[in-house]
Amino acid sequence: MRIAFLGLGIMGRPMAANLVKAGHEVSIWNRSARQHVDGACTAVSPADAARDADVVWMCVADTAAVERVVFSPDGVDQALREGMVIADSSTISPSATLKFAQRVAEKGVQWIDAPVTGSKIGAENGQLIFIVGGPVQTVTSIEPLFKAMGKTVIHVGDTGKGQSAKICMNLQIAMIYEGFAEGLTLARKLGVEPQKMVELVQASMIRSGVVDYKAPFVLRHDYSPNFPLRLMHKDIHLLLDTAKEARVKLPGLETVDEIYELSSEEGWDDLDYAATIQLLERWAGIGK
Ligand code: NAP
Repeated sequence: MRIAFLGLGIMGRPMAANLVKAGHEVSIWNRSARQHVDGACTAVSPADAARDADVVWMCVADTAAVERVVFSPDGVDQALREGMVIADSSTISPSATLKFAQRVAEKGVQWIDAPVTGSKIGAENGQLIFIVGGPVQTVTSIEPLFKAMGKTVIHVGDTGKGQSAKICMNLQIAMIYEGFAEGLTLARKLGVEPQKMVELVQASMIRSGVVDYKAPFVLRHDYSPNFPLRLMHKDIHLLLDTAKEARVKLPGLETVDEIYELSSEEGWDDLDYAATIQLLERWAGIGK
């Protein structure tokens, strides 16, 4: 298939590379031009990338970035043709997704929301899980592309439901990590070896994939970004806004948001979200 891939960050670059590896004809575009993917052509604008494409795949930072890539004067919208598919692997607002989908539907284009989980390692290994919203026939038509980049497709429902499920999942990731970080910090203050605490957590009923992924990094104080703090913070705000629209209260998440606000003030936006533990350690009077 001919694919335009837009957004070559931590996730997008390896996703585009896996599409090339699977034999697809890929045209790439990134806002700052520095990215390159072997075997793909580089386009000068989103519209240029999309011009001959069957499918436009996006993985950009947030709702505003998707709006810019699709609807700005050099955006994908300029190159849309009836029968094209737009698949969005960015994590963005479910209600904005519905509006974007309605706008492109006027040109006979289908919008699939396809946010992902699996982080940097999953993207590099082609082991992502896609959390999908949209018409079943369209989802089926792009199956080879999901296969090239991931291991599982969970088709949650119609347009926007993929984004809804994805943010509700990230709510739990943020809170599971915060629980782990607080437990680990108190344990350390009480003289328990962090390694022993992790061993106990993972041997017991509270074991989790979040701890599997994050504990090795936390134990060696490595906060290089797999999932940057600024993006988890963005998702927390997406969740709080979406919950407000749906008239749902999220008191636990509101408290976790305060930790992210303070971490952002510390200048940790580009570190991994696991770096939030450093605030707890500082407050507990235990550094590295
Ligand atoms: P990233 O490394 O920060 O990359 C973000 C991408 O968006 C870059 O290509 C960036 O371009 C582009 N971008 C940002 N603002 C833009 C704008 N206004 N217009 C056009 N392009 C813009 O982020 P990432 O980790 O790849 O994440 C991408 C998406 O996947 C996010 O929605 C994130 O929440 C989601 N996600 C990430 C992970 C993860 O573990 N990293 C896991 C699941 C889902 P520049 O290069 O020019 O800055």
